[in-house]
Amino acid sequence: MISRILIANRGEIAVRIIRAARELGIETVLVHSTADKDSLAVKLADRSVCIGPPPAAESYLFYQNILAAAQGVKADAIHPGYGFLAENPLFAEACRALRIVFIGPKSNVIRRMGDKAKAKELMKEAGVPVVPGSDGIIDNLEEAHKIVEQIGFPVIIKASAGGGGKGMRIVLEESELEKSYNYAANEAQQAFGDARVYIEKYISAPKHIEVQILGDRHGNAVHLFERDCSIQRRHQKLLEEAPSPLVDKETRLKMGEIAVRAALSVEYDSTGTIEFLYNPRTKDFYFMEMNTRIQVEHPVSEEITGIDLIKYQIRIANGEELDIKQEDIKRTGHAIECRINAEDPDNNFNPNPGQVTQLMVPGGPGVRVDSGVYPGYKIPPYYDSMVAKLITKGGSRKEAIERMKRALDEFCIEGIKTTIPFHKVVLKNKEFLSGRYTTDFVEKFFS
Ligand code: ADP
Repeated sequence: MISRILIANRGEIAVRIIRAARELGIETVLVHSTADKDSLAVKLADRSVCIGPPPAAESYLFYQNILAAAQGVKADAIHPGYGFLAENPLFAEACRALRIVFIGPKSNVIRRMGDKAKAKELMKEAGVPVVPGSDGIIDNLEEAHKIVEQIGFPVIIKASAGGGGKGMRIVLEESELEKSYNYAANEAQQAFGDARVYIEKYISAPKHIEVQILGDRHGNAVHLFERDCSIQRRHQKLLEEAPSPLVDKETRLKMGEIAVRAALSVEYDSTGTIEFLYNPRTKDFYFMEMNTRIQVEHPVSEEITGIDLIKYQIRIANGEELDIKQEDIKRTGHAIECRINAEDPDNNFNPNPGQVTQLMVPGGPGVRVDSGVYPGYKIPPYYDSMVAKLITKGGSRKEAIERMKRALDEFCIEGIKTTIPFHKVVLKNKEFLSGRYTTDFVEKFFS
């Protein structure tokens, strides 16, 4: 039985995990870098252990130190959060070797899904629709030419080890293919130490729709409906909502069924997400990738279903069988999440860390704030710029939007620039209000 969890992460997700663990009666030990010694998560955890200097490579990614800390405090499980070690199969294996429960899926699933070209092949075999393109890695330019002849322009070259939009290149015509292929492979090599790329048909103006799933170690899997994550800047999500305003009942049902099929085909045993590209003109959708972790935007799914995903993730890792069936999962109302980043939206979204001199968070009905900051807190410059998430829930999409506008007006953070003004503009945008927005929204209205 899990009774003490070590949290190998920081910021709002560390706080979120501490809260879930505490409600389950589980003790928490947080590891942190010297830059995070005054963080909110350190203040809230039962115990904390400093594991290294600010650079992530020497602290949050240096897993030998993290494992030593886990052994030192006799933690029986490690929650990796998202980012950092969350999708590192070697870390999951190292945990297992030390008889520490890794709160996530089996390492072989992480490995197979982390290789995006391989994941696509596996999904295709399982009968999941995938974007037309190369079946697997492209070894040379000649092969790239061949694929493009079959599927036609535009295409997108993507890094098999990809993440965060790196190693990705859209190609509109033949004359650009060579340059783009080299560029994508180089960027992938630099970002992931892995230059392998694959090619897909580029679907213009799609929606990014993803389905939240939960699987256990007893062969059960369910889905918690979809999220619309199409408001992105440079492939980074900024605002998410559930359900998607543009997915109809029939498509929702089909997507959910296919996501569960995908999960069962790899014996998925944790929280996870199946990402789809959705063509709103044809209502076709295609598997893009599977994320084998808890995601930043999980709260919108929690809000519309009343299911605590982190608690389930912990209970599943503890070997428990899912006590909910698909027909028990009901969807009510609408939820929106705005990512509050320490960035200056008027200045190319440049990171803007610093001291939070004043802070007043919104409240009232249907408002949730998952935050990693407090008044006087100094945001360190070394990590991701997201400092809080504001989530609103309403009986309808309109109510969730009005509530979000009201909550953003109440939200007062001084001392740093944030993405709050950006969100206020989005919420008034006609295309956003219509629900028809696609992944080119930010480029279209904010450049
Ligand atoms: P990463 O793992 O780097 O975030 P993804 O495969 O999740 O990469 O893709 C990120 C984003 O890139 C998607 O949300 C979508 O906006 C865009 N994208 C990826 N593949 C395609 C495609 N075939 N056609 C159009 N857009 C795409």
